[in-house]
Amino acid sequence: MSDDEVDARVTSPPGLQPGTRWRCDACGNLTRFDVDTSERVRRFWHLDLAGRGEPEQEEFLDVTVDSVICRWCGSRDAIRVVEAPGAP
Ligand SMILES: [Zn+2]
Repeated sequence: MSDDEVDARVTSPPGLQPGTRWRCDACGNLTRFDVDTSERVRRFWHLDLAGRGEPEQEEFLDVTVDSVICRWCGSRDAIRVVEAPGAP
């Protein structure tokens, strides 16, 4: 993959706006979090005649972040949303 290509799997997690990121103020962690969410999702399922298949599209209609827990120190009260580097 060249530098110009964007990995389609890399995206903002549900509940976090693009241009922002989480930060654990207890330990400084910026990259590893356990995130519990409640989601309402619409998926386009492409099925075979046996009723098996895979979702080819998904649209998150509603996402609620129930908790964000730091993977490094286990803190859940010290997580806050901060601006990401390069954000407009
Ligand atoms: Zn932490």
